[in-house]
Amino acid sequence: MNKVFRISPSQVERERKIQLTGELPVEFLGEPDTEMVKFSHPVKYSLELSATLGGIVLNGQISTQTECVCGRCLNKFDSELSAKICHFYEKDDSSELDIAEDVREDLLLEIPMNPNCSKNCKGLCLKCGQDLNKKTCKCDDTPAGHPVWDDLKPVKK
Ligand SMILES: [Zn+2]
Ligand SMILES: [Zn+2]
Repeated sequence: MNKVFRISPSQVERERKIQLTGELPVEFLGEPDTEMVKFSHPVKYSLELSATLGGIVLNGQISTQTECVCGRCLNKFDSELSAKICHFYEKDDSSELDIAEDVREDLLLEIPMNPNCSKNCKGLCLKCGQDLNKKTCKCDDTPAGHPVWDDLKPVKK
């Protein structure tokens, strides 16, 4: 599917180092497993293949932009997703090395299971559904204690 990630091991051996930089359409990543995250931008990659004793080392980085839904407040927010790539491919007889799947999986592994718009997101009030990042609701003003204490209040002089 992606020719850029089909490497010729003999070419790497000849040139010792091959740089791969560029962009791929977002389709490269497929659909994420979670509905909380959508891929919204092309995938950027910057990779280096180097020939070493016994094989090929792949190093680099891959990143994209995602549109996430916050698991606490349900607001949408944009977030960068990036992964460091580091693989070693042992030398074998094949004339082609396809690194697409490894690169793709490394990025998919970085998808947060429960994305949050910020570390301090206050979320929604469980009682009234108010987004507590925007304004506070009155629910917390009601004492959580046993109703008996309310009955006792008027006794106080
Ligand atoms: Zn949030
Ligand atoms: Zn509330």
